[in-house]
Amino acid sequence: MAFLKIDNLRKSFGKVDVLKGIDLEIEEGGFLVLVGPSGCGKSTLLNTIAGLEAITSGSISINGKVVNDLHPSQRDIAMVFQSYALYPNMTVAENIGFGMEIRGIAKAERDAAIAKVAETLQIGALLNRKPSQLSGGQRQRVAMGRALVRDPMVFLFDEPLSNLDAKLRVDMRTEIKRLHQRMGTTIVYVTHDQIEAMTLATKIAVLKDGVLQQFGTPAEIYNRPNNLFVADFMGSPS
Ligand code: ADP
Ligand code: MG
Repeated sequence: MAFLKIDNLRKSFGKVDVLKGIDLEIEEGGFLVLVGPSGCGKSTLLNTIAGLEAITSGSISINGKVVNDLHPSQRDIAMVFQSYALYPNMTVAENIGFGMEIRGIAKAERDAAIAKVAETLQIGALLNRKPSQLSGGQRQRVAMGRALVRDPMVFLFDEPLSNLDAKLRVDMRTEIKRLHQRMGTTIVYVTHDQIEAMTLATKIAVLKDGVLQQFGTPAEIYNRPNNLFVADFMGSPS
């Protein structure tokens, strides 16, 4: 059974139709990558799943429950953005624990959760540093820690690596893959990078102008593209 299911999802901003009837689903523990050119609607789709944007019509369900009208905080989802602003005056531990602190979780419990996440992300030695004392990759790891500590049912990533240099991007890609294998969380991941899509995904959705062009495994998409756009975009052999 699909864990995250999207049915005939439409989203318009005023008169502009951005998502034109998207159907997608991903099983529990799956890694769905949304790929497509800039402006095709990837972030909008992710934002509707997170509840940051209201949908125009259609439906989104998570774990069998329709979430269309639920506030982001009620969706059991955590999101990692491209620009992962950390609080500059807080240490790494404080950055990771801040969300729990404002929800009134006691310090001992916060510290235990922070330690666990730090171990997973291998940032235990950095917990007392300020963001200015971290490399780009370390900062991105802290941003992931903030999402991870919430132990969400679904993780959403919006081009989390696009601000990093090429070498680091490859390292972090490996890290995200390892994290997914270890934790088994369901992930929806946006990128415009075809290689990133091919290496991370269990399923790929290729979007163009708010229309789903193809949905399938990386091998299906690459070897049997539905149309010229998909073939060209994914660099399939011709
Ligand atoms: P992508 O993430 O694939 O680059 P987006 O989802 O950000 O694309 O944007 C898809 C289209 O929707 C773009 O044409 C963009 O200008 C438009 N759009 C996104 N957000 C808004 C908004 N809040 N108001 C109006 N138009 C928007
Ligand atoms: Mg985007």
